Amino acid sequence: MSARLLLATRNPGKLAELQRLLESAVPGVAVVGLRDVPEYPEAPETGVTFAENALLKAREAVRYTGLPAVADDSGLSVDALNGMPGVLSARWSGRHGDDDANTALLLGQLADVPDERRGAAFVCAAAIVTPNGAERVLERSWRGRVVRGKRGGNGFGYDPVFVPDGLDLTAAELTAAEKDARSHRGQAFAALVPLVPELLVRS
Ligand code: IMP
Repeated sequence: MSARLLLATRNPGKLAELQRLLESAVPGVAVVGLRDVPEYPEAPETGVTFAENALLKAREAVRYTGLPAVADDSGLSVDALNGMPGVLSARWSGRHGDDDANTALLLGQLADVPDERRGAAFVCAAAIVTPNGAERVLERSWRGRVVRGKRGGNGFGYDPVFVPDGLDLTAAELTAAEKDARSHRGQAFAALVPLVPELLVRS
C-alpha cells in the first residue's frame, strides 16, 4: 500500500512516533505533518472533551487537504481539581503553551492537597477521519500523581511534576523511548494503528 496519512500536528516528535508505530503495521504509508501541506486556517479547540477536539482537528485537516487525517488532543486531568486542567491544559495559566506558568499555577492550586489525594492522569484522544467520512476516535490514559516540585529536563508540559504509577521518576526523567512505551499518547497511537489499514483502503 502506498498512501499519505496526515497527522495534524507541527510537532516532529509526534510525527516520528506515529511513523514508527505505523511502519511495521502498515508498510508503505507515509505520515506527513502540517508543515508538509499548504497552510490552512486552524480553528480554535472549542470542544468540551479530548475526543471532541481530536475529531474537530482531524475533520478540519481532511476538509482542507483531502488526505486521510489523524489528530490527537491531550492534557492532564487532576483528581483533586475534578478533572481540570483537562482540555484547558495548554492554556491553564491564560497563556497558551506557557509550560512554566501552567505548571507553577497547578502546583500552587495543589499546595494544600495531601500526598494521598494528588492522583492525576494524562489523557490522550486520537481520531482518524477519511475523505469519505469514516471516523474513529479512542482515548487512553496514563495514571500517576502530581508531586510538589519539578524534576527532570526531558519532555514538555507537566512532565516534570508527574510521577507515573509504579515509578519514582517524573515523566521528565524518562527518556523519550521510555515515555512513548507507557504514555497516554503512545497507548492511543498504538491502539489507532490497527484501524488504519482498513480505513485507508476504503478512503
Ligand atoms: P496537545 O494535545 O499537544 O495540544 O497538549 C495539550 C497540553 O496538555 C500540553 O500543552 C501540555 O500542557 C499537556 N500535555 C499533554 N500531553 C502531555 C505530556 O505527555 N506531558 C506533559 N504535558 C502534556
